[in-house]
Amino acid sequence: MKITPLGIWGAYPPANGATSAFLIEEEGFRCLVDCGSGVLSALQTHIPLHELDALVITHYHPDHIADVGVLQHGVMIETMLDKRDRQLHVYAHANDEDQFSNLQYGKYMRATAISPQQTETIGPWHVDFCETDHPVYCLALKFTDQHGVSAVFTSDTAWTPNLLPFIKGSELLISEASTYHHMIDQIPGHLSGRQAGQLAHETGVERLVLTHLPQYGNINDLVAEAKDVFFGEVTLADPAKTYRVGKG
Ligand SMILES: [Zn+2]
Repeated sequence: MKITPLGIWGAYPPANGATSAFLIEEEGFRCLVDCGSGVLSALQTHIPLHELDALVITHYHPDHIADVGVLQHGVMIETMLDKRDRQLHVYAHANDEDQFSNLQYGKYMRATAISPQQTETIGPWHVDFCETDHPVYCLALKFTDQHGVSAVFTSDTAWTPNLLPFIKGSELLISEASTYHHMIDQIPGHLSGRQAGQLAHETGVERLVLTHLPQYGNINDLVAEAKDVFFGEVTLADPAKTYRVGKG
């Protein structure tokens, strides 16, 4: 699978940036993970909107869903223009019924409820879910290809041992790193760079990519923090790069 960061910032986007989203592609199937502020614009620098097949939402904080409304409009208008010939499938948890029902959009977008109890087949992948430790109900995602190679997205979370067995055995960990370790007590519900490194170390992944980055401080310090405890490859998520997992 090919993974492209579209939005790497937590909370709000800087000029010409975007908050949380990744594009995942394999065998011509294209899936968006989260749809934060600025993401619809960033997405279209990679693919035309009508080529998007699915969207997975991890939780309903604005920096993960801000662009869902404009995505709905885009899908509707491109369908009316005969550019798009199918529904967009949206996967999200239904613990917040109002937010979940808002994802359904006429005949244009169809929402499917996801939960840690059930593996979902989305395009060429099996996708598993794990509850994180966050002020609102939030799911980490594990995408596994047909050869059993997987990548995990932590989404938003504080340190929780729940994630360890979920991540173990994955090739790539894309972890949030919302703040610096000396500030972690001030930012509840999130990880520091060092804690992201600890997740990678304790689960034995090969590579760690840090995302959901803070607008303050020197973000390269997050990499240094992670490298203090994890000896594999550590990088900041970079929208100019793509990350390959497995053969696809
Ligand atoms: Zn959040």
